[in-house]
Amino acid sequence: MRIDLHTHSRASDGTQTPAELVLAARDAGLDVVALTDHDTTAGWDEAAAAARDAGIALVRGTEVSARSRGISVHLLCYLQDPDHPALADELARARESRVHRARHIVERLARDVPVTWQDVLDQAGGALAIGRPHIADALVALGVVRDRDAAFAHLLASDSEYHVDHYAPDAVAAVAAIRASGGVPVFAHPAADARGRTVPDRVFDELAEAGLAGLEVHHRDHSPAQRERLLAIAERLGLLVTGSSDYHGSGKVNRLGENLTEPRVLDEIVRQGTTEVVTA
Ligand code: AMP
Ligand code: ZN
Ligand code: FE
Ligand code: FE
Repeated sequence: MRIDLHTHSRASDGTQTPAELVLAARDAGLDVVALTDHDTTAGWDEAAAAARDAGIALVRGTEVSARSRGISVHLLCYLQDPDHPALADELARARESRVHRARHIVERLARDVPVTWQDVLDQAGGALAIGRPHIADALVALGVVRDRDAAFAHLLASDSEYHVDHYAPDAVAAVAAIRASGGVPVFAHPAADARGRTVPDRVFDELAEAGLAGLEVHHRDHSPAQRERLLAIAERLGLLVTGSSDYHGSGKVNRLGENLTEPRVLDEIVRQGTTEVVTA
């Protein structure tokens, strides 16, 4: 069983439609794929229809933006009730804030680079959750940078003079909202330190106390030493261990299935979740 529990479509900042993503997952030889767009469930229905046709199992989820002590925390949420207001209201607030924040970033960039808000909208193509990758795509289209990676290296980095944060709930509150909505919260790439600060150890204890189910240990942004440390934390706190690609289509080098999750871990996530896994 090949199970990849973290991917993005054009509903957020991936480069493929939800249906294209599901077909790509099947073609990559996956048996199960999770769609986990940032702060939206807008891709769920299209992905579900495609999964039924393609004969691949689909776990519907969301990558929830949160913060702990000013540090960005991403929480993978699996199999929640998408209409439950506890999480849905927080996601709506984050999406709204993402638009304002992206406009502010563009205003700041426009002092030095000829980019407009319309350029970003042209690239976002109706994405429900606007993010820095869409601004990166506008900069690529204008010939300012070569690719998303180059845009994030300086202009869009979190410590850049142009950077603006968006609203995100506190991580403990987000874990509680995910559980209240019947979802299963897993801390995404908790030790990925190349793109910003990561949380101190006591945050794992706080989140476990609040209902965290697992840690995404196997992710390309984690070194072998970081994986060992996270495995020890998961063991100590009784948390599940997942692995996944964080695939964004052509927007990142990450390849479908490059890290995988064990079937017994998926079984436990399904047991704890509310929404059914889509099967053919
Ligand atoms: P935002 O959610 O708007 O703050 O933007 C963060 C998103 O940008 C994350 O989902 C990352 O996947 C993506 N991202 C961060 N760094 C890079 C990079 N170097 N190349 C491509 N995408 C990136
Ligand atoms: Zn992303
Ligand atoms: Fe993330
Ligand atoms: Fe992600």
